[in-house]
Amino acid sequence: MTDVVVVGGGVVGLASAWALARQGLRVTVVEPGPLGGQSSQAAAGILGPLAESSADGPLTRLLWASLERFPTWVAALAEDSAADPEFETRGVLRLVAPAQAAAERASMAWRTRYDPAVTWVEPGGAPPVPEGWAAAIWSPHEGQIHGPRYLDALLQAAVRRGVNLEVGTLVTALEREGDRVVGVRTDHGRIPAAAVVLAAGAWSAPLAATVERRLDVAPVRGQVLGVRAPVRPFDYVLFAPGAYVAPKADGLLVLGATEDHSGYDSRVTLDGLYTVARRIAAIAPDLLRLPFDRAWSGLRPGTADGLPYLGRWPDLEGLVVATGHYRNGILLSPLTADVVTALVTGSTPPPSYDPAAFGPARSARTPGSPDEAAR
Ligand SMILES: Cc1cc2nc3c(=O)[nH]c(=O)nc-3n(C[C@H](O)[C@H](O)[C@H](O)COP(=O)(O)OP(=O)(O)OC[C@H]3O[C@@H](n4cnc5c(N)ncnc54)[C@H](O)[C@@H]3O)c2cc1C
Repeated sequence: MTDVVVVGGGVVGLASAWALARQGLRVTVVEPGPLGGQSSQAAAGILGPLAESSADGPLTRLLWASLERFPTWVAALAEDSAADPEFETRGVLRLVAPAQAAAERASMAWRTRYDPAVTWVEPGGAPPVPEGWAAAIWSPHEGQIHGPRYLDALLQAAVRRGVNLEVGTLVTALEREGDRVVGVRTDHGRIPAAAVVLAAGAWSAPLAATVERRLDVAPVRGQVLGVRAPVRPFDYVLFAPGAYVAPKADGLLVLGATEDHSGYDSRVTLDGLYTVARRIAAIAPDLLRLPFDRAWSGLRPGTADGLPYLGRWPDLEGLVVATGHYRNGILLSPLTADVVTALVTGSTPPPSYDPAAFGPARSARTPGSPDEAAR
């Protein structure tokens, strides 16, 4: 018997499953492939709510709240697992192109409301602004985590809390009785449950369609490559439009990332690697001389309006949606798990969660709506 079925064993599904199990619920995760083997395994692990935001809005508030949640989240994770996810807050440097300088300068007003320690760095200042860039925004309390080790920690913690893992099993449909979702159908049979969490990443839309609901989720491929340095040349994240460098403690430098609309094709292409290398040449050209380590990719769950789907349809009981986290699923995982747990157990979600902005019922709205403009 299970209380909650979580559809999808990526970072969102595993974080939600662990959080639900900590509340004493019996949880089953259903995953057709390796746990964490899709978008989540590809992540650079950057925890950069302000770096990721060009304007303030409900998503920035959610991202920031999730960053604030990380220290207690990883401390709890350490009690339930032996893996060290290497959570660090050593800062993110967001580079400012000359054409964006005025707008980015003006953005300091709202950025410093999140953290008064955020500063504007002119060329010649510290951390150094690379040649060709007008300035940078230094955010000292943002950071990163080691994606694969974080997934390992979540998996260990979920197992420790008794989460049942149905790996190699595909959910074929959500099961509905009247206005209630009552479980799932899989290629190995039915699993009845009082609640279902839909966390199937870029594959969520066809599953929502099995209960006649629409989600505008589609895959956006991200390609990244790794180079290796004997020691990391800097310990903060370097971030620019279309490019970043995430230096890991062991000397691996993660260089990213493309945003390709290639359907469900998750292969690495030479064109993708060329794109990443060209962009890195504009922010950290010295790194291109380091030995190549490996390249990899993943399919991010993108949404039509750029916001995640987090919440429930008001006219459908028993189903919580947690998908569409696009570029920020690792960062959003603690807060997502908190919201999912609150919605499943009937407690109050965190105040940074805006159900109108993130609820799945908005999928009838078109891109360009006021919500999107508010981002
Ligand atoms: C190159 C790249 C770099 C990134 N960098 C960062 C970063 O620095 N910071 C950050 O916060 N985020 C980053 N992201 C984004 C982050 O990886 C995603 O937002 C996150 O992994 C989404 O997690 P998920 O669990 O929703 O999806 P996934 O990890 O894709 O998991 C969904 C799971 O559902 C399973 N599934 C599919 N269909 C079914 C079915 N029918 N039944 C059961 N299960 C099913 C899949 O097999 C999969 O395992 C990056 C992504 C990429 C690709």
